Amino acid sequence: MTQYLTHQTIHVDRADLESSFPSSELDLRRQLVRFGRWVHRLGYTPGTAGNLSVRLDDHLILATPTGCSKGLLHAVDMVLIDNDGNKLSGTRNVTSEIGMHLAVYRMRPDVQAIVHTHPPIATAFAACGKALDQPICSEILMTTGLVPLAPYATTGTEEVSASLEPFIPDHDAILLANHGLLTYGSSLPDAFMKTETVEHFAQVCLSAHQLGGASPLRDIDIAKLQQARARYKLNASRGPSCR
Ligand SMILES: [Zn+2]
Repeated sequence: MTQYLTHQTIHVDRADLESSFPSSELDLRRQLVRFGRWVHRLGYTPGTAGNLSVRLDDHLILATPTGCSKGLLHAVDMVLIDNDGNKLSGTRNVTSEIGMHLAVYRMRPDVQAIVHTHPPIATAFAACGKALDQPICSEILMTTGLVPLAPYATTGTEEVSASLEPFIPDHDAILLANHGLLTYGSSLPDAFMKTETVEHFAQVCLSAHQLGGASPLRDIDIAKLQQARARYKLNASRGPSCR
């Protein structure tokens, strides 16, 4: 007799698989699910766009799979890879854009999590070849810092990592020309909030331009905000918190 998988049996299988993960790994898998849903609901990852990853330890990375909506993922869907991108476990294949995640983890030992999305306003700036580098809002200077634009590179190739590398050491958010946005930080909540902040900043820049142009902050005020950012980063490295 043909066996049909019911919704209930799939649910039980998932629960069995989830219970096989160590609690610290299961927590990170669930964070990937949660922030995947956030970026999807905010309209930052239409279709199967975007990907998220988090360090499990110094040698292992958990990443979202390729070809899946970020709004429909389960903890068991995540793919375990090593620092070279080799798949160690998972029923799906890792995102085809994992190369840029690996480049960030390689160059920034302080980074614990990465979020790549296509938020519409920030991506529009990237499509127009415009960096988000005008010092017109205090918030962006205190959180991500100004956002450079990496040159265009073909998605899923090593060209993407090469185009990002000059910007990775000194920035926590990078626009990818004609593509989207990459943010990273001390945790998934930190990387996600940077994505949200950059998209909001892009909206403000667009509106300010439509209103006739913003008044940039003075150099002395920028310096004060950069000092505040250094303190904020120190706090963020101690764990997710609210300012
Ligand atoms: Zn992308």
